[in-house]
Amino acid sequence: DAFRLSDLEKLKVLGHGNGGTVYKVRHRRSSAVYALKVLHSAPSPSSRREIDIHRSLDSPSVVRCHASLTTPAGDPALLLEHMDSGSLGDLVRRAPLPEPALAHICGQVLRGLHYLHSQKVVHRDIKPSNLLVGSGGQIKIADFGVSKLLRRSLDACVSYVGTCAYMSPERFDPEAYGGNYDPYAADVWSLGLTVLELFVGRFPLVPEGERPDWAALMCAICFGEPPAMPEGASEELRDFVGCCLQKEAGKRWSVGQLASHPFVARSDRAESERMFRDLLTDGPARPESS
Ligand code: ATP
Ligand code: MG
Repeated sequence: DAFRLSDLEKLKVLGHGNGGTVYKVRHRRSSAVYALKVLHSAPSPSSRREIDIHRSLDSPSVVRCHASLTTPAGDPALLLEHMDSGSLGDLVRRAPLPEPALAHICGQVLRGLHYLHSQKVVHRDIKPSNLLVGSGGQIKIADFGVSKLLRRSLDACVSYVGTCAYMSPERFDPEAYGGNYDPYAADVWSLGLTVLELFVGRFPLVPEGERPDWAALMCAICFGEPPAMPEGASEELRDFVGCCLQKEAGKRWSVGQLASHPFVARSDRAESERMFRDLLTDGPARPESS
C-alpha cells in the first residue's frame, strides 16, 4: 500500500457506528482529503470480509476504498473516498424529501445495487445513513460491514482441502440454494423502507415519539402488513415502494425491473438532480430524535 497512517492528519470525526469510527483525514503530502474508517474490532473474519469486499468494488456508485491499513493499536482501518455532504440520514433529519429528489436518489441507488448484485455482493444494510452524498449531487453506497459475497469461493475450497470435492452446492452457497429465495431481494426491501423513511421524515415502523422495541419491530415486519406510503404520495411513488415492500421475496421486483419503473424512468432526470442538489445547500439540521 502506498498509504501509511503516519501520512494522514486527523481533521475531525465524521460519524460513529456499530462497526467503527469514521474520521475526516488529510494526506499530508498531497493534501487530498479522505475518510478513514477505523473498525472497533480487532482483525477478525468479519473485518477481513468487510475490507476484502469493499476493496474489490470499483464503481462510481459505490464509495471508493483506496487502501486498508492497521492502526498502531492494531485496529483495521479503511481509507475511503470522502463524501463531502454527509449521508441521506443527515439530510432527512432536516426535512422530509420531495418526490423529484427521491426519484434522483432511487435512480442512483439502483445503479449502485445493480453493480453490487452483478458482482454477487448483497449489501444487507441499505438505509439512509449508509447512502452518502457528494456536494455535486452524487449518491454512493457505503458500509459493507454486513455484506455478503455469494461467489462460490475457491478460498473455501482451499481451506477445506480433502473434503470439498464431495460437498454439495448448497454447502458452498447455502443462501442461494437452500431457502429457494433470491438473496438479492433483501436489498430491495431495504430500499423500499429507506424511500418511505425519506418521504415521511422518520423511520416508518416505529410509532412517532416512541423508542424502538426490537421484538415488536421484528413481529411487525414478519407478521404485520408491509408498511405503505401515506396519502399525499403520487401513484407512481406508492407503486414503486409497494413493489419493493412485498413480504414474499419472490414477489418483490428486482433491481433491474425497478430501474425502469415509471417513478424512476419517467422522472425528468436533470430536474430531479437539480431539486436534490438544492436540498444540500439549505437549512440547519433538526436535532437528533432518539
Ligand atoms: P452503522 O453501524 O451505523 O451502520 P458503521 O459503523 O458501519 O455504521 P459507516 O456506516 O461506514 O459505519 O459510517 C458511519 C457514518 O460515518 C456514516 O453514516 C457517515 O455519516 C459517516 N461516513 C462514513 N463513511 C464516510 C465517507 N466516506 N465520507 C463521509 N462520511 C462518511
Ligand atoms: Mg453505517
